[in-house]
Amino acid sequence: MASLVHETRLANTMTMKTAHNETNGFQAILEGKESDLLHILRKRDGIVIEKSADQMDEIQYATERDLAIRNVDRESNLLRDVKDALRRIQEGSFGTCEECESSISPKRLAAVPWAALCIQCQEAAEQARNNGTEPLAADLPNAA
Ligand SMILES: [Zn+2]
Repeated sequence: MASLVHETRLANTMTMKTAHNETNGFQAILEGKESDLLHILRKRDGIVIEKSADQMDEIQYATERDLAIRNVDRESNLLRDVKDALRRIQEGSFGTCEECESSISPKRLAAVPWAALCIQCQEAAEQARNNGTEPLAADLPNAA
């Protein structure tokens, strides 16, 4: 039993190893993601802005429309990230942080193949963005 677990772990470790031709796998994943997103966005192009004389309906439609637009925003951003990642594969810079130029961990790339930043730079970027909007009081329990 134990040796079976060990062998499975070994196999996982081997597939996790970063080799140069590993980008081929990521390219396939990213191309699949790109066509998914293009498909979704094409369908969303058909969003009809509905008009109603009833004010309650107006609000309802406006909310649905806002939500749809937000989703399109998110998917457009993701599509841009995916395309950037495909470009980096062509350029041979895939897997390298755009900010500090250290290599992005294979674990992170497996979870987010279109990641442009290493986890440290990503967190720093998110923190900078959060600091601009709301205080992080909840994150500082030992501040006093
Ligand atoms: Zn970095």
